[in-house]
Amino acid sequence: MHLKLCNRRIVTAQAMRLQNFVVAARLAFHLSMRESADMQSVSVLIPLALPGPYDYAVPEGLELVRGDFVRVPLGPRQVNGVVWGPGAGDVAPAKLKSVLAHLDAPALADPLMQFVDWVAAYVLAPPGLVLRQIMRVPAAFEPEKPVFGYQATGVLPDRMTPARQRVLDVMLDTPPLPRPELARLAGVSASVVKGLFEAGALQKTALQPSLTRPRPDPNFSRVQLTPDQEGVATALADAVAQQDFGVHVLDGVTGSGKTEVYFEAIARALEAGRPALILLPEISLTAQFLARFERRFGCAPALWHSGLTPAERRRTWRAVAENRVQVLVGARSALFLPWPDLGVIIVDEEHDGGFKQEDGVVYNARDMAIVRAQLTGCSVILSSATPSLETFVNARQGRYQTHRLAARHGMGELPDIELVDMRATPPARGTWLVPQISTAMEAAMARGEQALLFLNRRGYAPLTICRACGHRYDCPNCDAWMVEHRFRRQLECHHCGHTRPTPEACDNCGAADELVACGPGVERITEEVTARFPKARAAILSSDHAGGVAGIRQTIKLIAEGGVDIIVGTQIVAKGHHFPKLSFVGVVDADLGLGNGDLRAAERTYQMLSQVAGRAGRETTGGRALLQTHMPEHPVLQALVSGDRDAFLEREAEAREQAAMPPFGRLGAIIISATDQQEGLAFVTELARKTPAHEHVRVLGPAPAPIARIRDRYRFRFLLKAGRQAPLQAFISQWLSAAPRRGSIRISVDIDPYSFL
Ligand code: ADP
Ligand code: ZN
Repeated sequence: MHLKLCNRRIVTAQAMRLQNFVVAARLAFHLSMRESADMQSVSVLIPLALPGPYDYAVPEGLELVRGDFVRVPLGPRQVNGVVWGPGAGDVAPAKLKSVLAHLDAPALADPLMQFVDWVAAYVLAPPGLVLRQIMRVPAAFEPEKPVFGYQATGVLPDRMTPARQRVLDVMLDTPPLPRPELARLAGVSASVVKGLFEAGALQKTALQPSLTRPRPDPNFSRVQLTPDQEGVATALADAVAQQDFGVHVLDGVTGSGKTEVYFEAIARALEAGRPALILLPEISLTAQFLARFERRFGCAPALWHSGLTPAERRRTWRAVAENRVQVLVGARSALFLPWPDLGVIIVDEEHDGGFKQEDGVVYNARDMAIVRAQLTGCSVILSSATPSLETFVNARQGRYQTHRLAARHGMGELPDIELVDMRATPPARGTWLVPQISTAMEAAMARGEQALLFLNRRGYAPLTICRACGHRYDCPNCDAWMVEHRFRRQLECHHCGHTRPTPEACDNCGAADELVACGPGVERITEEVTARFPKARAAILSSDHAGGVAGIRQTIKLIAEGGVDIIVGTQIVAKGHHFPKLSFVGVVDADLGLGNGDLRAAERTYQMLSQVAGRAGRETTGGRALLQTHMPEHPVLQALVSGDRDAFLEREAEAREQAAMPPFGRLGAIIISATDQQEGLAFVTELARKTPAHEHVRVLGPAPAPIARIRDRYRFRFLLKAGRQAPLQAFISQWLSAAPRRGSIRISVDIDPYSFL
């Protein structure tokens, strides 16, 4: 994204340029609405893909303000929506259907409503679909099942046991507590509490919801920051205390204490009574992070990710809406939680592609976090050891303020990164690791340390072919090879999830024993490692873990505690883990991400490999990384070796500037798919014919997408290249309205695309 975000005026100007949704007009409505309390009709935005809000009559006796959640009829259905302003008045009041009820939830805060309009206009999604990101928790509008706490009655049970006595002792100096917490405090099982209740010694009382959520304490336990860290922490805390919009880049190598430092900014927000939101790219894997948070603030933060139960979602959503959540750690979707106010938003690993939502409403949570912070009037902190080029350029141009942490904390030193030229020293036939890597692994293990092998490829082998007839196993639904997963004895398509058992004989010619696996995945590397180091304890860390997320967490814990000697992992290992004993990192194929030539290939490879290498030597001396490559002269790899990140970013920025690519120009993508190839082709041909002319927007395509078929849909792409000031959104919406969707056609718009598949 490349918006000027320095002041509110400019955002308003940007919003007004977007012709689709007239944000400014709505703001004017809202102002007039606060003044006139008795509205006859209201416009209600419904969380569905509708063109805009609909008018409803307000029944006698109901008083509504902008932001109120209401229930309204929609065709034969009843749906929940939000009062977006006074009725537009296009329909005679007598003909309007009426609002059915005012739902029991605090009204949406104004900045959040502006945010919905802003995001909708920016990503070219119907505003209702953006509102749906906020209203994903239908149960939030139904009365909560009360939470009960237990309280002593003064009656003693007929039979007293030491366990029962401990519960009653705990009760002496605590308020009523829910059963699990009471049991935990007394060190007994929950059945003891139940027994006391049945014996009449305890009674149940309904708890205030606020009593069920612990408050993080900004002064619970501060670590002694180094003078460097202290300086940055103070600057960030001061910025937060200003209670105004500002973007701060927290730039420091892995292990330099960025997390410790931004904790101080959170502490300041807490002192000011404003909540803090931390966005992480990989939220389900953050046990270590949560433990650190608890050490610093005395209790765990609230959580938001796809693994929550419906009850947890409801509770958390309500608590956020009622301003009872002081700190929440979440995945990108947490950005759409209904806080009335925010004191600081932290985007940790801001460069991470995981912040981009690719389905439905296509948005980048990092960029939209900046917009939300601006509309709210709070600080946003972008933390990374390898900032994205967008952030780097914005900082260099003075739009963002950069705070640097130069050194690793304590003992740890950054690992030495070296390249191994695979052309000069290829691995032995049938293996994937060069001798230098085996030797380094052996040395690490001899010192009682750990080695990590990184390969960003799941499974055993990315392709299976028949030596007899040349048949290659591909997916019936996609233009993609089937990946062998040997542990599961399956071939799997990584685009649609289609699986089949690994064949015994060739499907095509029937030859037995002629099928060969081509290329390595993590499973194959593990096979090589266990053959070479039979005594070593090896573990695979990839999203295919048989135990799911819980299994991955367990493996991470095992590694952190030193229960593993060799780790073979995909990109999951790169993200934020702290493995004290890890001293050596081997990268099996450093060229893997460089080949596909997309806009960010170099940048991403740099980020990924330096993150992975940064796992080594966090608490050991002499951390080391060896990268296997066929092109050691490649600038990305040379930059990794020299460690001169800024020179690399400068060069990359220069190249992008010359090509007028982001962040110096803007990109948009339009992906069109159809179940019938001819239907899709006819549609894109028509669309191409209707391309509007604009001197600062260039349209490339249509072209079949690089993966031309996914899930049996044929895919075509247009790529739009626009000048920084060009009205890209208006151009696209005008264009698409000239060729309405029909038949099986689906159209998806991606502003600032990250994926070019
Ligand atoms: P980053 O987020 O930059 O990777 P972290 O904040 O995770 O760095 O710090 C790396 C490790 O060093 C962590 O275990 C952290 O607790 C520790 N650490 C950093 N600064 C200090 C400090 N001032 N005192 C004690 N431990 C620190
Ligand atoms: Zn498939």
